Amino acid sequence: MDLTLSPQEEAFRDELRAWLADNHPGPEPEGDEAAFRFRLEWQRRLNAADWAGVSWPKEFGGRGATLVEQAIFNEETVRSKAPPMANVLALAMGGPTVIAHGTEEQKERYLQPILSADEIWCQGFSEPDSGSDLASLKTRAVKADGGWVVTGQKVWTTFAHHAKWCMLVARSDQDAPKHKGLTYFLMDMEQEGVQVRPLVQITGEPEFNELFIEEAEIPDENVIGGVGNGWAVAITTLMHERATLAFGLQVQVKIALGQLMELGASTASRTTRSCASASGSSTPRPRFFA
Ligand SMILES: Cc1cc2nc3c(=O)[nH]c(=O)nc-3n(C[C@H](O)[C@H](O)[C@H](O)COP(=O)(O)OP(=O)(O)OC[C@H]3O[C@@H](n4cnc5c(N)ncnc54)[C@H](O)[C@@H]3O)c2cc1C
Repeated sequence: MDLTLSPQEEAFRDELRAWLADNHPGPEPEGDEAAFRFRLEWQRRLNAADWAGVSWPKEFGGRGATLVEQAIFNEETVRSKAPPMANVLALAMGGPTVIAHGTEEQKERYLQPILSADEIWCQGFSEPDSGSDLASLKTRAVKADGGWVVTGQKVWTTFAHHAKWCMLVARSDQDAPKHKGLTYFLMDMEQEGVQVRPLVQITGEPEFNELFIEEAEIPDENVIGGVGNGWAVAITTLMHERATLAFGLQVQVKIALGQLMELGASTASRTTRSCASASGSSTPRPRFFA
């Protein structure tokens, strides 16, 4: 397979590189809230130049980029060390899911506030006993007048503490085979029945959360893709997660590995210098990272 960029793709990359050179916001501040505000501003600047929904169709406020251009966008933004956008899960996964499965009213209601970062989204799929085997999930949705009442627990919910909406997969039919009894909802996080508890990592960052859902209410119009069709809709979300976010992540890992190698090399050379000056011998070459 020939992965050489076409002249159009090179032009896309060069336009983006020039824009990033003129608009790069600099290093991200430390601390969850400060970093979040910084990412919000960054997304709004990208959106003003039609870069936020880079692969979204133009009719929904995107740039209509091809898959290769989207890969270029993810690689170049990470390579330039620009921060991620604040609404990354909605831009990469939630919006494309609404575009693929949503009604006209849902597209009208949800897509624009995703691009402008006025409404942040999170993804409520994983549960304490349902990770890789997602179809075994137990969060329960019970039909009520005009909507659904949902009870259960989610885990690893990235950015739930900033989110207005949750892409929630819940079991709406207890008797159907496990892949067929699921429905995909958009749950309003701003209600009493939803509690977010941070999972603080070793870095001190509370990026992930546990989500405790106790009789949360979701109106019928917030079902995406039809009752009982949650598995197919969830697969759409996950395909977008794999296809888009991964392009940037592999560059991020490469940069982080390079930084680690540099740190290791400078530490090793400092150590050998101080050993050499203690023993009075000439400095040997560090033996690591040859
Ligand atoms: C950075 C990050 C962000 C995340 N953000 C979110 C989020 O926002 N929302 C959300 O819902 N989830 C999120 N997750 C959770 C992620 O989707 C889960 O880690 C995933 O569902 C796996 O579940 P688990 O951790 O319970 O692992 P398990 O399912 O328990 O798997 C543990 C290990 O066993 C292996 N394994 C499992 N089953 C089998 C099998 N049948 N055969 C062979 N091997 C098997 C797996 O490959 C894995 O190595 C996030 C995870 C990460 C790492």
